[in-house]
Amino acid sequence: MNEVKRPKKPLIYYYGIICLALILFNLLAMPILSERQIKEVDYGTFMSMTENGEIGRVEIQEQENRILFTDKEETTVYKTAMVDDPELTDRLHQADIPFYGQEIQQESPILTFLLSWVLPLVVFIAIGQLMSKKLMDRAGGANAMSFGFGKSNAKIYVKSSEGIKFSDVAGEDEAKENLTEIVNYLHDPTKYQEIGASMPKGILLVGPPGTGKTMLAKAVAGEANVPFFSISGSEFVEMFVGMGASKVRDLFKQAKEKAPCIVFIDEIDAIGKKRDGQMGGNDEREQTLNQLLTEMDGFEGNNGVIILAATNRPESLDPALTRPGRFDRRVPVELPDLQGREAILKVHAKKIKVADDVDFNRIARMASGASGAELANIINEAALRAVRDGRRFASQSDLEESIEVVIAGYQKKNAILTDQEKWTVACHEIGHALVAAEQSHSAPVQKITIIPRTSGALGYTMQVEEGNHYLLTQEELENKIATYTGGRAAEEVVFGTSSTGASNDIEQATKLARAMITRYGMSQDFDMVALATVQNQYLGGDASLSCSPQTQAEIDRQVVELVKRQHEKARSILMEHREKLDELARYLYEKETITGEEFMRILQS
Ligand code: ADP
Ligand code: ZN
Repeated sequence: MNEVKRPKKPLIYYYGIICLALILFNLLAMPILSERQIKEVDYGTFMSMTENGEIGRVEIQEQENRILFTDKEETTVYKTAMVDDPELTDRLHQADIPFYGQEIQQESPILTFLLSWVLPLVVFIAIGQLMSKKLMDRAGGANAMSFGFGKSNAKIYVKSSEGIKFSDVAGEDEAKENLTEIVNYLHDPTKYQEIGASMPKGILLVGPPGTGKTMLAKAVAGEANVPFFSISGSEFVEMFVGMGASKVRDLFKQAKEKAPCIVFIDEIDAIGKKRDGQMGGNDEREQTLNQLLTEMDGFEGNNGVIILAATNRPESLDPALTRPGRFDRRVPVELPDLQGREAILKVHAKKIKVADDVDFNRIARMASGASGAELANIINEAALRAVRDGRRFASQSDLEESIEVVIAGYQKKNAILTDQEKWTVACHEIGHALVAAEQSHSAPVQKITIIPRTSGALGYTMQVEEGNHYLLTQEELENKIATYTGGRAAEEVVFGTSSTGASNDIEQATKLARAMITRYGMSQDFDMVALATVQNQYLGGDASLSCSPQTQAEIDRQVVELVKRQHEKARSILMEHREKLDELARYLYEKETITGEEFMRILQS
């Protein structure tokens, strides 16, 4: 450890400072404060004011060798030095001015007391507390604990109240299998110790948001029946410098006391980002990270503290964090596949009342690409919808509608499209569906709707994947692009013009075409050369180009070429089936929502 610890100072030290300051304040500040309103005049003025009857009352302070007096209204206090003047009292008496030997009280005694003793005391104690808090945070350790400063916010989840088990986490079988070993170890560490095996200290759960990483961590604790500490990476990085590091220290201290246990650090990328050595980097974050590394090195492999961490940006983590002996095991938690989605839907459907005839497989197929959290949300939306409509069970149609709600937002009840716009949208959507259906490899459509959604979509075509696809051929990818361009192509074929409704399609088509050329090696002449690297695998998957400017220009040319070719193909498919296009669009225009079966029936009639 390279941290220099400051010597601890006893409390008496701070109170000493406070007392000293208080005394100084009273000796120096109070007299100045109270004398401020007193006006000094010469003795002659005093005498003439006495004669003119301009004086309210007089106080003779023989000990201080001065006279205090006020004007008639007693608003101003004057002061003058005492002169040997034996007739003074006679003169004052004659002028009928009251005079005293004691002090004129300028403020109430209670106020004076409060101002001179209590207020400074309060102020100094407050300052003292603040200072000692800061000092102790830096010193860290035991005495900080005793005051509750710098204590980590890690929450201990009591097993009984949470009680999440592996069975609550649907799908994710590989992840569960991987983590079962940890559970076994926590159950019976001796078996592992005997053979000399040590558990990995840290396990990194990586995957897109909402895939159940937190749930899995809780489930490990639940299965192993051990305490569960959880803290989010962003909680470490706080206002005061040094707080994060002291939190890490405290977290590990608590964890070691409670071992065996699970420590879960969510969003570890918040503290574990690569240290790039840039000037003006986040010092606090680096200190926290250093402390975390130190703590992880500090405890032996077999003391029963297992650290689980979650992130959806594994590539941004500091290599020091992922090296052996730290977070050396990586458990991918991917988006669920078809079976996974079905299982997740079923798990969550147990919490609500659903009709008996609900086809979860169909729902799972419709919700392709949804994460566990989104699926949980779909089930809940369906229940809410059932209540809104006064039903006691959520039905198949509730579930289907809520997929659309979760994916595309609520129906916009009061969006008013003109007839012409509605007709355009109908043609556009049928264009997508028709192109998809006519290319044998595209998935058949499930549903087409032209009811505007709060997400801004004016309509959409829901495609259904038949099973799990792990590989896509070049032809399938090209067909996908053609399907994206199908909407615009239909507008061109029917109206001879284009509208703004295709912006999202254009984005998708371009992204796919670019990936084909730069990453999948499906270009004319780049062969199997990687021209781009993926940046955020789990968050949108943006790729950044890594090639010369000339190559970039060539890539752009080929992307345009590729999309153009598919657009042309879509247009010719639609022209070939012009009557079907019109017929289907008219049908959709009238019904606003049509199912895949209806679509196929008309297409094949
Ligand atoms: P992450 O930590 O990966 O972002 P969470 O574990 O917080 O995701 O999951 C959020 C919610 O999504 C959970 O509370 C749960 O309701 C639901 N969920 C996600 N994945 C699953 C799953 N595999 N099985 C059941 N529910 C899941
Ligand atoms: Zn479109």
